[in-house]
Amino acid sequence: MIEYGGKSVYGGIAVGKIHLMSKSEQQIVKYSIENGDDETERFEAAKKEAGNQLAELYDKAKKEVGEANAAIFEIHQMMLDDDDYLDSIKNIISEQHVNAEYAVGVTADNFSEMFSSMDDAYMKERAADVKDISERIIRILTGADTEKNTSDEPVIILADDLAPSETVQLDKNLVLSFVTVHGSTNSHTAILARTMNIPALIGVNIELSEELEGKMAVVDGFDGIIYIEPDEETLIKMRKRKDDETEKQKLLQELKGKENITKDGKSVLVYANIGNVKDLAYVLKNDAGGIGLFRSEFIYLENKTYPTENEQFQIYKKAAETMAGKRVIIRTLDIGADKQADYFNLDKEENPAMGLRAIRICLTRPEVFKTQLRAIYRASKYGKLAVMYPMITSLEEVKKIKAISSEVKAELDEKNIPYNNIEEGIMIETPAAVMISDMLAKEVDFFSIGTNDLSQYTMAVDRQNPKLDEFFNPHHEAVLRMIEMVCRNAHKENIWVGICGELGADLELTERFLEMGVDELSVSPSYVLPLRNKIRNLDLSK
Ligand code: PEP
Ligand code: MG
Repeated sequence: MIEYGGKSVYGGIAVGKIHLMSKSEQQIVKYSIENGDDETERFEAAKKEAGNQLAELYDKAKKEVGEANAAIFEIHQMMLDDDDYLDSIKNIISEQHVNAEYAVGVTADNFSEMFSSMDDAYMKERAADVKDISERIIRILTGADTEKNTSDEPVIILADDLAPSETVQLDKNLVLSFVTVHGSTNSHTAILARTMNIPALIGVNIELSEELEGKMAVVDGFDGIIYIEPDEETLIKMRKRKDDETEKQKLLQELKGKENITKDGKSVLVYANIGNVKDLAYVLKNDAGGIGLFRSEFIYLENKTYPTENEQFQIYKKAAETMAGKRVIIRTLDIGADKQADYFNLDKEENPAMGLRAIRICLTRPEVFKTQLRAIYRASKYGKLAVMYPMITSLEEVKKIKAISSEVKAELDEKNIPYNNIEEGIMIETPAAVMISDMLAKEVDFFSIGTNDLSQYTMAVDRQNPKLDEFFNPHHEAVLRMIEMVCRNAHKENIWVGICGELGADLELTERFLEMGVDELSVSPSYVLPLRNKIRNLDLSK
């Protein structure tokens, strides 16, 4: 048995086999071939198989994340049939008498270089795609294609780090736990684990060697340990802990359908945070009262180019319909900083967290912003949608946003497209917004406090940097006083205020938040019932 420690980002116990997700590029060996026709035939067969895999991926993604997010696999299928690409590979095979893997590799390098040097942003983006499809073909040719990133039994995923575009390919029913070498507490993997209610460790200093594939392991998300090939004693102990946990979860299930109300009668809204329509299942399963934060940027991150208005409309409509009249707050695009999509072609910045991100991008690219707003407004007819804007620092920004949203509504009116006049709120996640929250409260319908960013900006602690953990105090009095101030200023103007950052799920603070008058707490779906339990056991009169 070998054990490695890491930082737990979600508790629980997982017992199962390890599945490695590695991104390592393949080494291509060049060798001479005798018969060009046979080699071309070998290539054609691999290309056909790649096409089948992409069609399967498309169907899977379409079911799980909708047509818009699945479109990339359709683009890949089309690229596989591109004449120039195919001619180049076949020519290299026949002229240079070399193996297909080598011909595909050279063609991939040439084409991706050509695409990268183009001015057109869309074409630039194709550079990564041509590499992607070529790697798929090479994997098939070399027999390395056991579809390493999928498995047909539930597994513990071990990876360097996971990008949102990688997690979209995973069958979530087959994931027992995430263990990554890198990543931070608020990384996408961590948030996903909380949504899925499975244990996850980050910062595990483990060498990702092939030998680990298929080995039995136990992830202890309570103590932040992964045991590889656990001994009998550890297995028994962990299984017992897992059973205790299941028992606790069962008890929580009894809270479904019950109110979020303290013993002395104070009620509070408990909503859930999602990053994807697929997460709606977890929201319903955990009986959240609504969606307090739909991180819409994942729609952009999971795409290789700007999602269209219609694609977004379908996603927001589905969320509105599924939640059947419960409030669904769509947070507009919060790209930038740690959330990068290449096709935005953002400049590299010294301090990206303080750079061109979120609403700043939307206000400098109004067409991108308006496309999203049109999609949200159109979808508003299908349920109870609300919209909120991230990273606000000034009154001027809010006024500009309101002018743009009025323009969008006027354009919809002109075209006789129906929409509802939905609530418009802002995120309070910068100290500037806190300090002028009295003024901002006069302009909007609600506040949602983003404690993840508010904490990083207040304590000057980069939320992505695990080395700063010892300097990060989630209960820092400065942040708590800010939350209190925001609540006071919101209520003076009769608007409601919620918390949608990770702090909202911190049960040690629930009592204090309720005393401050927080109206809504929006947490990862798996935290909804524990939070309800906490609220129901509080007595604020004492
Ligand atoms: C926050 O900053 O607290 C928040 C909820 O937004 P995100 O984590 O997506 O930046
Ligand atoms: Mg934020």
